[in-house]
Amino acid sequence: MTGMPGDLLIRNVRPLGGAVADVLVRAGRIAEIGPGIAAPPAVTIEDGGNALLLPGLIEGHTHLDKTVWGGVWYRNEVGPTRLDRIENERAWRGASGHDAAARSLALARGFLVNGTTRMRTHADVDSEIGLAHVHATLRTRAALADAIDMQVVAFPQSGLSNRPGTEALMDAALRDGCDIVGGIDPCAIDRDPVRCLDALFALAARHGKPLDIHLHEAGEMGAFSLDLILERTAALGMHGKVVISHAFCLGSIVERDCDALLARMAQLQVSIATTAPASSPVPSLAVCRAAGVTMFGGNDGIRDAWTPYARPDMLDRAMHIGLRNALRRDDELGWTLECVTTLAAQACGFAGYGLAPGDRADLVLVSAGTIAEAVVCAPPRRLVVAGGAVVARNGALVTA
Ligand SMILES: [Zn+2]
Repeated sequence: MTGMPGDLLIRNVRPLGGAVADVLVRAGRIAEIGPGIAAPPAVTIEDGGNALLLPGLIEGHTHLDKTVWGGVWYRNEVGPTRLDRIENERAWRGASGHDAAARSLALARGFLVNGTTRMRTHADVDSEIGLAHVHATLRTRAALADAIDMQVVAFPQSGLSNRPGTEALMDAALRDGCDIVGGIDPCAIDRDPVRCLDALFALAARHGKPLDIHLHEAGEMGAFSLDLILERTAALGMHGKVVISHAFCLGSIVERDCDALLARMAQLQVSIATTAPASSPVPSLAVCRAAGVTMFGGNDGIRDAWTPYARPDMLDRAMHIGLRNALRRDDELGWTLECVTTLAAQACGFAGYGLAPGDRADLVLVSAGTIAEAVVCAPPRRLVVAGGAVVARNGALVTA
């Protein structure tokens, strides 16, 4: 959408709230960052206006394919349980003619306006829609490939071993271009956790892909599933290749058991994606950090048949993570920014990420004095640069 980026010199920004500096971008990468950079010939110069400079934001867990973003409002009259929501969504999808390609593109563009340049999205795979949502999401990825580095998770939302045919579809989704093997509640949804997890890890091994498993199961049931996941992660040497999304159980089991699981997760480099919802007990960011477990952030669904809430702004999600964790201090709000920047890059395996020379030039200029102010206020982005090209200005996309 942006064409080949030319050289760009951004003057007068404050990297992560530090001293005023300039940033020189060449061939899509940061060439130099520091005070008073001499302008090379024919470079485009932008005045940063003393804005806070952040690296491109990262959405670590969303569902682009489900959203109605940019379409008509979805009237939510859905029952209270997770199974109600799953059944409702499958019925609504068919009846409404939901266009996963158009809606996912609209939402991804919404993310870009707010400075999100890397993203992990889970695309539904089931025996009713087959690979339609995977292919729709892959089309969105291709359309925005210059600007957004997108990982697509093949996600068996309705379950795996409980729905015959899903495993073969997951296999096909990974052949067709999905980057990650997804999963969900091996006890509560599949009702056969050993069979379910053996199948997921076998898919990961066969395709050489990492895993990202939704684990909503609370209390002892979730802890049991997590134990089975960690057992397989260790046995198959998948250190650093497994993410647990939500891990609500770690917010509700006794402290001693939680500490033991976190110690194993740290050792196996198993990370946690959190959306920090108000509706469930959540693992504590402070406790995870102290245990050496990487926790990063995501919105989960945005304006879909599951939830009317959320918006494609990772600063807003960082604020929710801070709020849910009762964080008040500026340094603690800095942790929440890490959840949607460096820690998400590390956990998801996004390469060339950051504000150092050589990193991909994904830059976000925010009119805020400090990181804490940016997280709490989430002001419109003054400028967004993706892959070295200006893609948005003052809250609107720039089209080449
Ligand atoms: Zn999710």
